Amino acid sequence: MTQINENFLAMEKNYLFIEIAKRVNAYRAAHPEKELIRMGIGDVTLPLAPVVVEAMKKAADEMGVRETFRGYEDRGAGYDFLREAVAGYYKGLGADVLPGEIRINDGAKSDCGNITDIFGNDNAIMMTDPVYPVYADSNKMAGRKIVYLDSNEENGFAAMPPVGIHGDIIYLCSPNNPTGSAYTKAQLKEWVDYALENEAVIIYDSAYEAFITDPDVPRSIYCIEGAKRCAIEMCSLSKTAGFTGVRCGYTVIPHELTVTAAGRQVRLSDLWARRQGSKFNGVSYIVQRGAEAVFTEKGQQQTRENIACYQQNARLMADTLTQLGIAFTGGTNSPYIWFRCPRGMGSWEFFDRMLNEIQVVGTPGAGFGRNGEGWFRLTSFNTRENTREAMERLATLCR
Ligand SMILES: *Cc1c(COP(=O)(O)O)cnc(C)c1O
Repeated sequence: MTQINENFLAMEKNYLFIEIAKRVNAYRAAHPEKELIRMGIGDVTLPLAPVVVEAMKKAADEMGVRETFRGYEDRGAGYDFLREAVAGYYKGLGADVLPGEIRINDGAKSDCGNITDIFGNDNAIMMTDPVYPVYADSNKMAGRKIVYLDSNEENGFAAMPPVGIHGDIIYLCSPNNPTGSAYTKAQLKEWVDYALENEAVIIYDSAYEAFITDPDVPRSIYCIEGAKRCAIEMCSLSKTAGFTGVRCGYTVIPHELTVTAAGRQVRLSDLWARRQGSKFNGVSYIVQRGAEAVFTEKGQQQTRENIACYQQNARLMADTLTQLGIAFTGGTNSPYIWFRCPRGMGSWEFFDRMLNEIQVVGTPGAGFGRNGEGWFRLTSFNTRENTREAMERLATLCR
């Protein structure tokens, strides 16, 4: 008889976005004349940069000609042209990453979820609470226990290494989804030191690095001394260049990152290459050419314009909350604003008030973990007009 992976039975339903959709749909059915402003889901709204579109069109044409047609890519790790472009980008961020340490993927979510394959089941796995659900779910599917570190108002929703508690694998996301907080260089150095002391591996999600404006906040963990011996970094063009529907990201596993096993030093990059070689066949050539264009001078200029729009929205949101005297994190260095629900309301109670009274849809913080209760997330991935309108309505609700 077939046996299932019973870990799935112990997992909660993907309750958050289902419940939001349920409440939004019920509201729309009852009030079809009302226009909702959606600031809930973390999806970009501005179109691709023109140079990216041109590059993909050209690549599509190449695919239609015998001489330039491409089939399977050798190894499926990404074409050299793109790995070199990403390495060049890292150089600009002040991080030293070799093209051979980079693997191209179909977005960061896949690698964030799949990386569990190369680690054993008895590791002490650490992550913050609140947390991006992928890290927790992928470990629960493998039946692994998770130690949650509190991110809360006291630590600015940026948990620091715990004293006297050992971790083997540590998930960090900076700038953070959902809280918008970002680690400074000094804070990240503490994490790197903790990982080196504990012989732990940090899995560092830098999906929002392009939103960083504060010079004291590093855009890659490899800006920190020692990180190449303890950290895997995952990044994506989804938020940087509007690739949520195109699908392209990259994972860095430095050659220096080794773990002792069976009496010898094993390179994690070798294990990951072996894993990907068996289960992944690479990213579309057309998409990789589009991604390459992001890293050109023009591509950077055009994609930065879109990011600037979101950043201005985020600033508008932050200014509104400051005026209203509401505590928040994010807004700078992040497209997210994470704020305390007014008058001690719970996350879902406030969600309903926002929906019913001002027709703005956000995300209840409670959906991201225990410490999210009483907090709320809004995104800046919207038009200026909608953002301004939503903030005016929020002001009436919170006064
Ligand atoms: C959006 C997001 C990503 C990127 O996901 P893709 O699969 O690349 O679209 C990664 N990590 C976090 C925390 C995110 O919010």
